[in-house]
Amino acid sequence: MSELVASTATPPATRPRFGPSELTLPSPPLGLALVLEAAENEDTSLQRLGWLINREPSLTTHVLKLSNSAAYSVGRQVSSVSQATVYLGARTIRNMTLSHIVRTVSLSVDVGTFDTTLFWEHSLRRAGAAHVLATRLAFDDPGEAFTAGLIQDLGLLVMAVQWPDLAPEIEAAMALPIDERRAREVALTGTTHDAIFALIADSWGVPQEITRAIAEHHAEVIKLPNRRGQVLAEILRLSDAVADLTQVSPTPDALTRARGCLDNLRGGKRISLETVIDETVRAMSEMSSALEIRVRPQPSYEELIRVAHRVVAKVSARYEDETRRLEAMLAQQVALRRDLESKNEQLARLATTDPLTGVANRRALCDHLDVALQRARDHGEPVTLLMIDLDRFKLVNDTHGHDAGDAVLKETATRLSGALRGGDVLGRLGGEEFAVVLVGCLPEHGPYVAERLRIMLGLRPFRLPSGDLVKVTTSIGGTSVAPGQALTLEETLKRSDLALYACKHSGRNRVSWYTPELEAP
Ligand code: GH3
Ligand code: MG
Ligand code: MG
Repeated sequence: MSELVASTATPPATRPRFGPSELTLPSPPLGLALVLEAAENEDTSLQRLGWLINREPSLTTHVLKLSNSAAYSVGRQVSSVSQATVYLGARTIRNMTLSHIVRTVSLSVDVGTFDTTLFWEHSLRRAGAAHVLATRLAFDDPGEAFTAGLIQDLGLLVMAVQWPDLAPEIEAAMALPIDERRAREVALTGTTHDAIFALIADSWGVPQEITRAIAEHHAEVIKLPNRRGQVLAEILRLSDAVADLTQVSPTPDALTRARGCLDNLRGGKRISLETVIDETVRAMSEMSSALEIRVRPQPSYEELIRVAHRVVAKVSARYEDETRRLEAMLAQQVALRRDLESKNEQLARLATTDPLTGVANRRALCDHLDVALQRARDHGEPVTLLMIDLDRFKLVNDTHGHDAGDAVLKETATRLSGALRGGDVLGRLGGEEFAVVLVGCLPEHGPYVAERLRIMLGLRPFRLPSGDLVKVTTSIGGTSVAPGQALTLEETLKRSDLALYACKHSGRNRVSWYTPELEAP
């Protein structure tokens, strides 16, 4: 790694300033925009989503590569778009599409001398850090944090397209700590990369939650109305701090700042900065080939600490104090390393559990279902899959707030677990969608079990943290696999999904069972 030195102060502006209203913004290719819109729309079946993706060869490649990459892997080889859509769900597909749009547009515009390779390395570092932090902090969708990290600096590219003569200076500003960098951007162009991002995001249909988290994450105090958005913004802020450490200058101040950001997050005190940095470097190299982003060798945490030490030795009169501080930090790392093993166990549990409800997550549920399907095929044990989706759940959030929505989701999981038999597995597929794998349940009994669960969920209102009561109905789509029948995981998920889709289209609050007629496009 090259010698890193503290950055110099921002020189005064010498250029004319521009305002965001003068921007001509690039727009996403139509076919990709259609996929994004379809993935956002709950009324799109996974089948149609897969069909739309398959029409876009470059997106198809991107989705398959990402599905098999470190940040998104479902623990099995994904070899078709239709597998990717059922294993990962529409939300993840939406995020993958978003990153593909940003990559595609960035490679097609003329940015003059602006170094896009460096830019993407820099974005991948933030994405990698965001993914590592999201996983460690049990954020429910690390892939989404990855996407947000990857696209957050897109405004820089727009600047380079818009003002080609400023490209060298915009590029040089990337090497400044984040706050100085934004000040420099304002001096050069009259605006910041994040302000530009907010403008594009809107016209590109980037989901509000991601846009707001990106827009807010530089704020002194982040205050977002929903907790999920708040955590995402805090993760992005911390990934900036990690990026400042590794790419700008590992000064003790930068270390203290990153440590401070980490400590402020719930669960952050237990995470070592060393782990975050070293895992970020690993994530970058793992993801670089899936995203076709070239990255140079990255420094390890120990190298950074060594450089920090040298920087201190050169520039600080308070050398001994600073050395003690660094040594204390190193000692802390040793202590943290010792209990890393128990953390890793905890992490393995997190990797299979949904943090909000404590039930199996999508990945773990797919694993259970896979085993159950093999038993159906080889040992004649029938299996039934139910997909359970709360009706008009958005209304609960909109009327009573996100925390109330969370309480309903938790209570749903509790009620469902209480109503199932020992061998059955309940999981949360994502959002307000749950699934149940009923093992040993005769195919003809499946619809009765589903009906019992639907009635049980709808019968008693849910009590919210405010004390209010709210009634929630559910739609349940099911499919059974008879003894000796050979169905893949993907086919089984798709069948239940089609049945669920049929419920939603025939009025909700009901159970529908898969029939081959539902396959008609
Ligand atoms: P439908 O009957 O068609 O299923 O309508 P819906 O409103 O239930 O479906 P839609 O997909 O439009 O909305 C789902 C909502 O679930 C939107 C999203 O904000 C909310 N949601 C997703 N995950 C969570 C979560 O973890 N907590 C809370 N509170 N809400 C969530
Ligand atoms: Mg719903
Ligand atoms: Mg839904």
